[in-house]
Amino acid sequence: MNGPVKNDRAAWLQGPPADCSAVPTERKRPWRLVLLGAPGVGKGTQAELLTERLDACHLSTGDVFRAAGKRKDCDQSPAMKAALEYMRRGELVPDSTVWDMVRERSHCILNCGGFILDGFPRTLGQAESLRELMGSEKLSLSAVVNYELPVDEIVRRLSGRRTCEKCKSVFHATERPPKVEAVCDHCAGRLFQREDDRPESVTVRLDAYERSTAPLIQFYKDLGLLLPIAAKGSPEEIFARTIDELDQLATGPVVSAGD
Ligand code: AMP
Repeated sequence: MNGPVKNDRAAWLQGPPADCSAVPTERKRPWRLVLLGAPGVGKGTQAELLTERLDACHLSTGDVFRAAGKRKDCDQSPAMKAALEYMRRGELVPDSTVWDMVRERSHCILNCGGFILDGFPRTLGQAESLRELMGSEKLSLSAVVNYELPVDEIVRRLSGRRTCEKCKSVFHATERPPKVEAVCDHCAGRLFQREDDRPESVTVRLDAYERSTAPLIQFYKDLGLLLPIAAKGSPEEIFARTIDELDQLATGPVVSAGD
């Protein structure tokens, strides 16, 4: 039986001319979700779990930048090189660069049978651009999940976070340690600490979040799309909470993006 090709994100990570080889499935109601929340609330982990459960594409802008950072220097455009510098410092990449990159991949948003946007939009400008793009195809978001967690807990989580360099699985040095130290349980890849998870970048990222991303909460609240979820507890508990809320949405009236 043909199903979607799991974890094939070449079209998103590489951009054109990579093709999307996932086979769209016939579904009555594809989920189109945005995940909000400060860095470290566990959006990436929830995005992976939700992608699996909802049969959607995981579209993370941070992953696109990280994938570009691994390419040879000469294969990076000047805009991408500049973007990677912002990223290394923990600052937000300028809206115009982010939007150029997302627009190149707009088919991932418009044509796929559902998506989980993780790390985008991050500013009001990006949110407006997304709304226009989707509106041009008469599409609307299903919901915007906002993961909430106190700041001291966020700092603790970020500083212990370890990511697999091969499959991107996320562990925590003390709370969710791998079976073998520094080795991924799933693919035996090496676990590393992201450059922007180091303490000096964490503070900058939290500031950037407060300044630029927190206003999105009000923006989506006003559109009737916001779904607040407490991000405390284990990933499985947070996931169960999220699914409960989405189930309630699915059985309720169809939510529109306020257009
Ligand atoms: P993330 O993995 O989502 O935390 O993203 C890592 C870094 O990539 C951020 O700290 C930013 O420097 C950059 N980045 C990712 N997505 C965006 C975005 N939508 N707008 C601006 N910068 C972004």
